[in-house]
Amino acid sequence: MPKFDYAPAPESRSVVSIQPSYGLFVDGTFSRPRALFPTVDPADETILAEVSQAGPKDVDKAVAAARRAFDGAWGSMPGAERGRYLFRIARILQERAREFAVLETLDSGKPVKETRDVDIPLAAAHFFYHAGWADKLEYAGLAPTGAALLRPYGVVGQVIPWNFPLLMLAWKVAPALATGNTVVLKPAETTPLTALLFAEVCQQADLPAGVVNILTGDGRTGQAIVEHPGVDKIAFTGSTEVGRAIARSIAGTAKRATLELGGKAANIIFDDAPIDQAVEGIVSGIFFNQGQVCCAGSRLLVQESVHHEVVARLQRRLATLRVGDPMDKNTDLGPINSRAQLDRITTLVEAGIAEGATAWAPECTFPGTGFWFPPTLLTGVSQTHRVATEEIFGPVLSVLTFRTPAEAVAKANNTAYGLSAGVWTEKGSRILWMADQLRAGVVWANTFNRFDPASPFGGYKESGYGREGGRHGLEAYLRGAAG
Ligand code: NAD
Ligand code: MG
Repeated sequence: MPKFDYAPAPESRSVVSIQPSYGLFVDGTFSRPRALFPTVDPADETILAEVSQAGPKDVDKAVAAARRAFDGAWGSMPGAERGRYLFRIARILQERAREFAVLETLDSGKPVKETRDVDIPLAAAHFFYHAGWADKLEYAGLAPTGAALLRPYGVVGQVIPWNFPLLMLAWKVAPALATGNTVVLKPAETTPLTALLFAEVCQQADLPAGVVNILTGDGRTGQAIVEHPGVDKIAFTGSTEVGRAIARSIAGTAKRATLELGGKAANIIFDDAPIDQAVEGIVSGIFFNQGQVCCAGSRLLVQESVHHEVVARLQRRLATLRVGDPMDKNTDLGPINSRAQLDRITTLVEAGIAEGATAWAPECTFPGTGFWFPPTLLTGVSQTHRVATEEIFGPVLSVLTFRTPAEAVAKANNTAYGLSAGVWTEKGSRILWMADQLRAGVVWANTFNRFDPASPFGGYKESGYGREGGRHGLEAYLRGAAG
């Protein structure tokens, strides 16, 4: 097969201006930078900026500011007025989309093709969608006896991960504000920069001081937010381990929580599926964002009769993926977000090989610096292998087989998680039957990794509880709401 090389198509770094250091965003203003730690570009390990580690006193100040804003005007502001702020934020995100996309790519390693076409447009879409709800909450069908029973919680503490930095912020902040809550949010320690740029957007939109507060820092800051007595509700996205610790720490208090945790989704290919389309779906299912996606299709279940064909076509397709500089507009896979995550992926793949799986990856050449891992297939995987049970959170696909639909369901559900699943088949009746049997919050049929603000997202079992997005997502931010 002839191989065509693409000419370099670099996006410009000059559309963003990154300050050498950042303070915390509390009560509408940035504090003086203090207790600094660096955030790097994972493609080359250069330091992009230094951000402040928020301590308990900063959390006190942010929670107090959020409380004042809630009691002051925000909590009782008419929905139509709140909606106006959300529309304004959404429009500014669109206007500054290129700046956000470039900054997100630099700070996280996500290919600019993805930040430009997925992360930033979806973040804006979440604000537009929730802006529309702000004055219609009484019609959301959440409280049969009337809107008077629906009330915001007050101050919401939100902690988010590094794999979709701005998008996770949008998933958290947009519904919280639409329902009249105020927010103290902590971005992940490796990807704080778009959250800090979002703070500027809040200023630009004239959002009242204290409605959104952004505290940078590591897990200690997150823990201080979660444990703060002035916080009424917690919304967390991250690992199951930390989710468990949060659930334990708020047990017995009046605090409510929604937890969006890990996943180990099955992507199920029946022998009547359109194989070329399925291969594209498998690729976007596990190699989108280098596989660092909680709902990634990380377990491929292929019907035995098409196993060889699917694996062969996948290998051919993987050889055409472009792995490299995430700022290049043609790049399909960028670097892994951090050295710690790269080490975790490497350890798990080594464990898979030691347990008997066969690893395959196309030839890739990587620069000497940065956190790189090639798109990898693991075949000969059995259900007890660590690579079939533990979340790898990287560009690694574990391939298993099945013979009957019942076996596919049993294997797909044989996991501690339950966030998502995919089904590929020509038969509509089988899709419906499978969707009914699969214990997963989202089931995609003949597609994978599709997101829409109107569609609720969330898990079963160790993938957490509560839903984000859609009408169901509003429920988590309103007292008196019952689906
Ligand atoms: P993590 O749980 O270590 O960190 C997530 C966030 O929690 C970070 O901001 C971190 O600073 C903070 N944190 C760490 N310890 C804390 C504590 N004790 N108290 C409060 N906050 C604390 O996870 P990670 O390694 O950054 O992210 C990867 C994980 O997140 C994966 O397991 C993935 O599946 C999960 N994830 C889930 C979803 C979802 O929607 N379900 C989305 C993205 C990521
Ligand atoms: Mg970074």
